[in-house]
Amino acid sequence: MQRALFISDLHLTGARPAANEAFFAFLENVAPGADALYILGDLFEYWVGDDDLADPLNAVVAGFLANTARNGTPVHLMHGNRDFLVAEAFCKAAGAQLLADPTVVDLFGTRTLLMHGDTLCTDDTAYQDWRTLCRGEAWQKAFLAEPLEARRARMLELRSRSEADKRAKPPVIMDVNEAAVREALRGHACTRLVHGHTHRPARHTLEVDGRACERWVLQDWYGRGGYLEATAAGMKLVNLPAA
Ligand code: MN
Repeated sequence: MQRALFISDLHLTGARPAANEAFFAFLENVAPGADALYILGDLFEYWVGDDDLADPLNAVVAGFLANTARNGTPVHLMHGNRDFLVAEAFCKAAGAQLLADPTVVDLFGTRTLLMHGDTLCTDDTAYQDWRTLCRGEAWQKAFLAEPLEARRARMLELRSRSEADKRAKPPVIMDVNEAAVREALRGHACTRLVHGHTHRPARHTLEVDGRACERWVLQDWYGRGGYLEATAAGMKLVNLPAA
């Protein structure tokens, strides 16, 4: 392993073509030569089921990712809170491997914990209740049994409700819980955590049981977008050039 790339929270949608273009440019200009691309959730603004692969944007995204994989950069895809219904058919079309949340990888000798980040936001109990429900088999089975159009409408409705909820919640509730971060690092015997979801890109340092740890938070792609690059020389957050 020479170089690994981490991205999350692209929230790709037909409604934001600039982010889609930035992502395709990233795959064509930055990803080549990387030993791995990790997409840590919320690649899509929403995902209603793999039978929506015929949607033009979805098909183009799958095609670009498949090209990246074919050119020698394995693509690892983790679910986010928006695209948790991404399944086998999409991964096959995209040449991607679905990544469990959490997953531990060895990065140049450092055990690194990869998460989307939503499970760390334990202060947002309303969200955690919803997460438990929608990640369950019963909810998913019932949802996926609905016609495509009805699912789309329902996802858009859920999304606008969550946006309204977000505006009503104090910002601190929307961030990770410090104890949950420690518990995750301790539980997986890791000294490094990489996650997205909060849209608060940063490198935080902390000490867990006397060990120096770090937490890297990925940026979203609502603006120009960016990525985290890991090489033997270290980790760095990189902004994409302004369009
Ligand atoms: Mn998210």
